Amino acid sequence: MGKPTGFIEYERETAKVEDPKSRVRHFHEFRQPLSMEKQRLQGARCMACGVPFCQSGMMLGGMASGCQLHNLVPETNDLVYGGNWQQAYWRLMKTHCFPEFTSRVCPALCEAACTCNLHGEPVATKENERAIIETAYEKGWIKASPPAVRTGKKIAVVGSGPSGLAAALQLNKRGHLVTVYERSDRIGGLLRYGIPNMKLEKSVIDRRLALMEEEGITFVTNADVGADVDAGALLKEYDRVILACGASNPRDIQVPGREAKGIYFAVDFLKSVTKSLLDSDFADQKFIPAKGKNVLVIGGGDTGNDCVGTAIRLGAKSVVQLEMMPEPPKERAENNPWPQWPRILKTDYGQEEAIALFGQDPRMYQTTVTEFVANKKGEVCQAKVVKLKSQKDEKSGRMQMVPVEGSEQLLSADLVLIAAGFLGAQKYVADAFGVERNARTNVATKPDGYETSVSRVFTAGDMHRGQSLVVWAIREGREAARAVDQSLMGYTNL
Ligand SMILES: Cc1cc2nc3c(=O)[nH]c(=O)nc-3n(C[C@H](O)[C@H](O)[C@H](O)COP(=O)(O)OP(=O)(O)OC[C@H]3O[C@@H](n4cnc5c(N)ncnc54)[C@H](O)[C@@H]3O)c2cc1C
Ligand code: SF4
Repeated sequence: MGKPTGFIEYERETAKVEDPKSRVRHFHEFRQPLSMEKQRLQGARCMACGVPFCQSGMMLGGMASGCQLHNLVPETNDLVYGGNWQQAYWRLMKTHCFPEFTSRVCPALCEAACTCNLHGEPVATKENERAIIETAYEKGWIKASPPAVRTGKKIAVVGSGPSGLAAALQLNKRGHLVTVYERSDRIGGLLRYGIPNMKLEKSVIDRRLALMEEEGITFVTNADVGADVDAGALLKEYDRVILACGASNPRDIQVPGREAKGIYFAVDFLKSVTKSLLDSDFADQKFIPAKGKNVLVIGGGDTGNDCVGTAIRLGAKSVVQLEMMPEPPKERAENNPWPQWPRILKTDYGQEEAIALFGQDPRMYQTTVTEFVANKKGEVCQAKVVKLKSQKDEKSGRMQMVPVEGSEQLLSADLVLIAAGFLGAQKYVADAFGVERNARTNVATKPDGYETSVSRVFTAGDMHRGQSLVVWAIREGREAARAVDQSLMGYTNL
């Protein structure tokens, strides 16, 4: 620890954030990072704790606490404080493949578990990570480094989200020849076509992909494995296959009127907007429009928030976001102590923008939709909603949310976006390879394992653990790569 009194001397300082009313006029990232000198002082706030929960990546109280990649957080923070940026970069790359993604989109499990967060503000580890990786790009320290020796083994990775990309990068580094198959027209999975551009500018993905191609990884787009590309043919051609297809089965809202026009799944909406932005800077107008519409987002989570921010940028007239659960407390509850992940109220960027523009929080808690109402043209125009209360189910004894009698109301809604979660892996890919799925419809493996019920077929990421986070997907991709390497070579040094 370079500065024992750093956490006392320096306040937490993070990126300058563009005013909500100004940033909703564009789709670019809106955080202006600190200068390197200021960022260095943020490194000084790290206390190098004897037990650094920030890097533990443990499950506590059923939730992940600390970095799932086990980034060597106190060490990198200290190197940042010392201005040893190049060493900090090498230290970060011991555990990570893509800090440029997590340092933009990670909820920073490390910071929630930081000791400074017990009674004050956590160390700005996520922004330190961003400063390290962006400095490394700027200074030209990141260069393509193809493996010196090839093993002659061939691996197919199906799906190009963060888990597939992490697995591909690691296995290629080891000398195996890797081909990534992607159903979509562009590489990146939900990094590309889920997370909006203002959270992760897509040039950040392209910059990394160019390096990976130079290192010898082949990317094949518009290749729907299990539909256009035969699974059996892949198993013949490749020594190992990794299924990293995500958990893209959206949970539907089955209520009367669901067939009305103007009701979409969140990811279809977000994808249409990013694709139109990337294809033509919106000139083709091939996106689901929100201009002048009363937008109803069903689902109070992060995906719902991305829909709020995107709809506002497209010129929505109003935005309401329904959440079934009660509003979380502002402070940690007694049964949710540090260093557990804090179950407290968060107001994300989209909600901040709605508050700035419309003067109120878009979230309606303990509320669900019971019916969609369509006009004569069959277009959705209203939604019937009802308040919910928590009540014990007499049979099971479990608490459940039930409607409050007489609380029904009608909301104007001419664009409805369903962001109610995901149900697991898509069946056709699993069936094409004959791999078993578990009760949660994820592809099944032994606990902490990555090989499926079919020999030579592995799985990673959301397809394996269900809809999760980018940091988890990268960890799974790296661990699946290790398992594949071990099975091919009899040992692994990944
Ligand atoms: C809207 C949204 C916003 C999110 N925001 C965040 C965030 O801010 N921070 C965060 O940490 N996490 C976020 N997440 C979660 C995160 O994006 C995922 O957990 C992560 O991308 C999972 O990575 P993956 O590689 O397992 O799968 P995915 O990213 O889902 O990638 C799977 C890929 O496989 C492809 N594929 C599927 N089937 C086939 C097939 N048969 N043949 C070929 N290719 C196929 C898909 O087209 C896709 O490109 C968000 C999720 C959503 C939906
Ligand atoms: S990947 Fe996420 S949890 Fe890990 S150090 Fe970076 S910001 Fe923190």
